[in-house]
Amino acid sequence: TLSAADWIARAAALTPVTVEGRAIVGGERVAAVSGETFACRSPRDGQALADVAACDAADADRAVAVARAAFADGRWARLPPTRRKRVLQRLSELILHNAEALALLETLDMGKPITESLGIDVRSAANCFRWYGEALDKVYGEVAPTGPDDLALITREPLGVVAAIVPWNFPLLMAAWKVAPALAAGNSVILKPAEQSPLTALKLGELALEAGVPPGVLNVLPGFGPTVGRALALHGDVDGVFFTGSTAVGKLIMQYAGQSNLKRVGLECGGKSPNIVLSGFRDLEAAARTAAEAIFYNQGEVCTAGSRLIVERSVHDRVVEIVTRMARERCPGDPLDPATRFGAMVDEDHVQRVLGYVEIGKAEGAVLAQGGARVAPVAGGCYIEPTVFTGVRNTMRLAREEVFGPVLAVIAVDSAEEALAVANDSDYGLAAAVWTDDLSQAHRMAAGLRAGVVYVNGYDTDDMTTPFGGYRQSGIGRDKSLHALDKYTELKTTWIRLGA
Ligand code: NAD
Repeated sequence: TLSAADWIARAAALTPVTVEGRAIVGGERVAAVSGETFACRSPRDGQALADVAACDAADADRAVAVARAAFADGRWARLPPTRRKRVLQRLSELILHNAEALALLETLDMGKPITESLGIDVRSAANCFRWYGEALDKVYGEVAPTGPDDLALITREPLGVVAAIVPWNFPLLMAAWKVAPALAAGNSVILKPAEQSPLTALKLGELALEAGVPPGVLNVLPGFGPTVGRALALHGDVDGVFFTGSTAVGKLIMQYAGQSNLKRVGLECGGKSPNIVLSGFRDLEAAARTAAEAIFYNQGEVCTAGSRLIVERSVHDRVVEIVTRMARERCPGDPLDPATRFGAMVDEDHVQRVLGYVEIGKAEGAVLAQGGARVAPVAGGCYIEPTVFTGVRNTMRLAREEVFGPVLAVIAVDSAEEALAVANDSDYGLAAAVWTDDLSQAHRMAAGLRAGVVYVNGYDTDDMTTPFGGYRQSGIGRDKSLHALDKYTELKTTWIRLGA
């Protein structure tokens, strides 16, 4: 119930001196070994937020040694599950207790609307820690159905030391999706937040200590991808690297694992998700409104963004009319104003990248139906209008490459079969949606869509109970649900000879 003025006053009180930018290693706030820092700026207005430790390979070595020692002495891995559970539940409570501070940091750091930081990111992160806390003492081992002379136990053990490398679009939540199951499984973790948005990860590291996660079990190393991120993925004493980010960097992560110790790799990468509206669907208004939400939520900086709207020609004009209206009405605004539904892009580089795609779309012959321009609801900030292109063909770069911004490509098709073929003609396979009233068609389309998550008559429905991840170049492995624990555990078979 805070007003825009309240949030702005809090932001002014916070910046730039009070934001702690040191790394967390072994339970201590520490400067980078080199002493180097980098400036963290807010895309809301370009103002400095904090000087943050620029960690590199020396910091990775130090953190891995600390995490390994913590794993080896069992201070976390060998605690009774009920004790680990209580700590994760306490962390969930502390996240909620610090919701306003975390939401403010998130919004200042990466530009998303404060209402969403508070109502979605922080709440979902807290829920994630609670969920894995609750789950961890309900995962049983197995006894294999062997012959009577043997007993074969199948048990799960933590991997050991794992690195989590996360992006800037949901900084706290993507960290939670990795850190919570990794800690639940008993691992020691090194979290590497994106250089664009390190602040909530550092706060999370502090709250984890306060909750009772033992020192050395969750370490946080801010810094750049090619330095500290690469060093972690190449490290010979890291047992697994779990990455969310672009497909290009995901490919590097696999190479680093291959070049070093064949550590386990989990990848959640990019998407170019198709959202299909078929003719005859009874509620075009709902389909079109949801299509707008699917691409414009979080400024389009969403891996599952419904960036290709594939529409049957008979309903095309009506759907486009509603989507462009929604785009027009969703004006970029001050992210600190609780009324704002569309905030700032993460930084100036990204503004230029997204505007570059607007030019690419025009040059390819697509029709700019709405938006496409830079605006300035707050001076000095990074803002772009919600943008709609029509007349897009699936061969255009606008339809093939992930823009990772508020740019919708509308593709007209003549049939459900063509819609399915166009939807699947992509390097990616993260999410997909179809809008239809025909039950058989819904099942046929859902089964035919090559994507890790399919929505029928909806988009971006979410719950901790369902696995999340992609087909093809959208990734390897799944976050969320009990399936995520597979990534963070080894399966061990123990044979006990009973017979003579
Ligand atoms: P990015 O790939 O540029 O960076 C992601 C992380 O990797 C950052 O922490 C970065 O510092 C680090 N990194 C960069 N180069 C590295 C290297 N050489 N070695 C090791 N680490 C390195 O991605 P981004 O721009 O931060 O995020 C946007 C991307 O993330 C989009 O492609 C989006 O689709 C994807 N994403 C995917 C999911 C998912 O669950 N599938 C969720 C959110 C975002």
